[in-house]
Amino acid sequence: MKRKTAHEGAGERVLHGLGVAAGIAIGPAHVRESSSISVPEYAIGADQVEGEQKRLSDAVSGARKQLAKLKSKAGGLHGPAAEEIGYLLDAYVQMLTGSRLVRGVERRIAEQRINAEAAVKAEIAAIVEGFAKMDDEYLAERAADIREVGDRLIRQLTRAPYQTLKELPEGTVLIAEDLSPADTALLDPKMVGGFATVLGGPEGHTAIMARSLGLPLVVGVTGLLAGVKPGDMVIVDGVRGEVTLSPTEATLEQARRRQEALRHEQRLLQRVAKLPSVTRDGTEIALEANIELPGEVALAVAAAAEGIGLLRTEFLFMNRDKLPDEDEQYKLLRDIVRGMNGKPVTIRTLDIGNDKLIGNHGAESAGAMNPALGLRAIRLSLKRPELLEAQLAAIMRAGAHGPVRILLPMIASSSEMKQVREILNQVRKRLKRRGARYAKPTPPLGAMIEVPGAALSADALAVTSDFFALGTNDLTQYTLAIDRSDEQVAHLYNPLHPAVLRLIQFTVEAALRARIPVSVCGEMAGDPRFTPLLLGLGIRDLSMAPVHLPRVKQRLRALDLASATRRARTIMEQADPVRIAALLDDFNGGA
Ligand code: PEP
Ligand code: MG
Repeated sequence: MKRKTAHEGAGERVLHGLGVAAGIAIGPAHVRESSSISVPEYAIGADQVEGEQKRLSDAVSGARKQLAKLKSKAGGLHGPAAEEIGYLLDAYVQMLTGSRLVRGVERRIAEQRINAEAAVKAEIAAIVEGFAKMDDEYLAERAADIREVGDRLIRQLTRAPYQTLKELPEGTVLIAEDLSPADTALLDPKMVGGFATVLGGPEGHTAIMARSLGLPLVVGVTGLLAGVKPGDMVIVDGVRGEVTLSPTEATLEQARRRQEALRHEQRLLQRVAKLPSVTRDGTEIALEANIELPGEVALAVAAAAEGIGLLRTEFLFMNRDKLPDEDEQYKLLRDIVRGMNGKPVTIRTLDIGNDKLIGNHGAESAGAMNPALGLRAIRLSLKRPELLEAQLAAIMRAGAHGPVRILLPMIASSSEMKQVREILNQVRKRLKRRGARYAKPTPPLGAMIEVPGAALSADALAVTSDFFALGTNDLTQYTLAIDRSDEQVAHLYNPLHPAVLRLIQFTVEAALRARIPVSVCGEMAGDPRFTPLLLGLGIRDLSMAPVHLPRVKQRLRALDLASATRRARTIMEQADPVRIAALLDDFNGGA
């Protein structure tokens, strides 16, 4: 894909891919040739079977030793990167330990009478083909892991050396067809500024590792290798998902400025992440993260979020024709739960419909006159209980690996809560009968408060809900009858409208009276402008995109909660949104 940019000069070319690790790298390119090894393939006699199987088992132990060495080297890494590479290398060792892979290769040597290298190649191809048939992004990424292990075995058998990425000049931008996660983990972030690849996806280990090493990465860049020569100047922009080849001076200057701004932001994040989240007068505030992709767990951890306050599960259902089954959902959720190291993960059930139409699954509401008021979110889940049951079972099972909470979108009445609780009970009984591991006790079941009717009946809903999460985005949209995605009325969308604020206030008071937790997870929570007002209204738990966490924390640390509460009271007496905004901005300017 190629689009022209303002600065595109004579030699400059901008290639587009998928930015999977944020940041900007500017430097000379190191082009890594793909290292395909030639695999000798020949037939063997019956008397050679044992010898080939012995060669195989030597290669397996050689590869395992190599992986153990790699693991001890990776011990020098810190934080999530170390953990990620640890898991990964263990998984590789697992694949080499009495696994289907090894047994399959042994069988091929004996039955097909072929040499060990050919048998490895055939077995890997068969496993990868099996994964490909399942047409599943997660499994496609795992296929890369299987290939990596197969590659290691073949290198052991043919004694082909493993290409390492040592001794690169400082600031190098690595350009490659693909990079193995093990290579990525051992890159020296002091030498490598970032990288771009032709292959790869957002969920691969390489992407995860790049994020935790803080190295910008753009994957899926077609035409990359043809367009760049070693030593050429390149810009990798992991935020925009762009690779600029031979940039002009003006483009370079602009990229340097953006790089500096991002670094400044990162330094702030690191500094603020370490500080406690308390107001100036000593009240602790829980700051949690909203995430939409598994890869964002690392960002939540880096920002020291106290948990995931909202996991939007729509990603599981996007860009695919076939719905993910319980097992696939479970594995992804389990990884997220594990990634949060014992901190709670609030998993929202599917919220599709209206602005979130997903492939064919939104089709049921796509034809509706008024999809925002149609068959979406919990309504769709209750109409298609098999969808909800699979999701609840997956969440319950993921809850065996760490604390989870279940959050239901677009709840309008207590009867919906009751129906879901009933289904959850059935699901729990079924899991018990199956002998599955699942969360005990049953996770809390909460309601999104984002429909005005739900806010106005929050006292009744509090009886059937274990917690509330205020979705101020939809609450504003439905209260003011403003489509959140319609530019023509966007200027009228205003969460400071007294109607919205009163609904928030009513909900918080109902939750406090019923002694159930209440948080805000709409965009308001991530904007420091609103922090004094939300805290002043009694909220003590805010959930936001990880990127907003440092600024909100900075704001609340400077805040005197007693005066914020007084200001919130004054604001709640006003009827005019303009006056409310002025009172809030005046408070922010002075305190
Ligand atoms: C909201 O409506 O405020 C919310 C958090 O949910 P979403 O933005 O996913 O609709
Ligand atoms: Mg919503």
